[in-house]
Amino acid sequence: MIQFFLRYAYSSIICVLCVGLGVGLFFGVIVGLAVALISIVILFTLHLRYFKIFIEWLESPSLDPLPEAKGLWGTIFLKVYKARKKTEKNALKLHEKEQRFRQTLNSLPDGVILVRKHWEIELLNPIAERDFGLNGSEDIGKRLTDVYKDPEFVRYILSGSWEQSMILTPADGRKIELRVFPAGKKYWIVVSRDETEIMRADAMRRDFVANVSHELRTPLTVIKGFLELQGDNPTATDEERLHWKMMTDQAERMGALVDDLLTLSRLERDSAPAVKTEVDPQELLEHAVEDGASLSQGRHCITVTHIASEIILGDIKEMRSAVTNLVTNAVRYTPDGGKINISWTVIDGEGHIDVSDNGVGIAPEDISRVTERFYRSDKSRSRETGGTGLGLAIVKHVLFRHQAKLQIESKLGEGSIFRIVIPGSRISKRKEN
Ligand code: ADP
Repeated sequence: MIQFFLRYAYSSIICVLCVGLGVGLFFGVIVGLAVALISIVILFTLHLRYFKIFIEWLESPSLDPLPEAKGLWGTIFLKVYKARKKTEKNALKLHEKEQRFRQTLNSLPDGVILVRKHWEIELLNPIAERDFGLNGSEDIGKRLTDVYKDPEFVRYILSGSWEQSMILTPADGRKIELRVFPAGKKYWIVVSRDETEIMRADAMRRDFVANVSHELRTPLTVIKGFLELQGDNPTATDEERLHWKMMTDQAERMGALVDDLLTLSRLERDSAPAVKTEVDPQELLEHAVEDGASLSQGRHCITVTHIASEIILGDIKEMRSAVTNLVTNAVRYTPDGGKINISWTVIDGEGHIDVSDNGVGIAPEDISRVTERFYRSDKSRSRETGGTGLGLAIVKHVLFRHQAKLQIESKLGEGSIFRIVIPGSRISKRKEN
């Protein structure tokens, strides 16, 4: 375009000079100069006129119709016209895209808020407006923590640790699950989901299981009592004794199942983090070894290989149940003569309770599922060894309440390592006496 303009300017100047020179040759210098000057003035006036038309055309709301012009101005009009039409088309496309994006956002079943650097609201959908009691047009640009001031929410948002979701309980009693995800460098997305119905159904299921388990306890105690009495009957035949023994074993199993179900319901109902009382790892491990040894009856070699000096901050009863579950599992899934090692180590501020065995091991496809309730990689073995199918589910819940994790490494036929990973926030130096 610029090149075209320059070319036009040069040729105009050359034309004017040629006309002036031609006329000057025939009629003298003065007349030649006068003709050249007049030509320049005519040319200038012509361009001014087109310039005016150009400005008026640019300022008009519509570019149609395209003004009629030849030469340089014809080209300028056409080029600008094409460029403007292209821009208009792109703007329309962009607008349509934005509309589609907004429609998608608005039809999501979850609340979505896009916030930038200092938690200023950039955009939000109607579900988010409802969940947080916001007004889209008024609250855009305001800080989310200024318009939704629930202290727990503000603490969660500003904490920066959003691996776990949080549950909001607005005044209307709903349960809103919140998650925060980073979106690019300086943007975050806050997603809210109404979990009221799911949580209500879950609470009903938990109450049902807890009530049934509780109600089963009394009849079970009576049955066990009578079976024990009958077992002591001196007139009973060997066959009758065998039957009573079998019935007693099954009643015991049922009792263990009821106990585990009640433990699980209690752990599930208590959503608050576990207390932070001092737990001596030595006592904890020794207690688990005692339980393991009593189950093993000398069939395994159970050893505590290392105990770090740090102590654990947690709930002693729950931690005992978790570690004991791992040790008794190791006994149950390790053939006679096997070795079970237990240790407590602290590495880089993170605590590890390791329970390793050289037992039957777990198939790779089962490892991620063994903490599910009643999931067993080997059903018959689990029942044979008196398992309830809830041991690792209890461990998982206890660890969750302690912000701890369970890691499992295992090889079929070679053995397993169950590792409880305790975060630094739940480890403390032992106080010197
Ligand atoms: P169960 O009562 O069936 O043992 P758990 O919840 O304690 O229930 O364990 C779930 C499953 O995990 C078990 O059925 C078993 O297949 C597997 N498992 C647990 N501990 C071990 C272990 N130390 N070695 C091999 N398999 C194990």
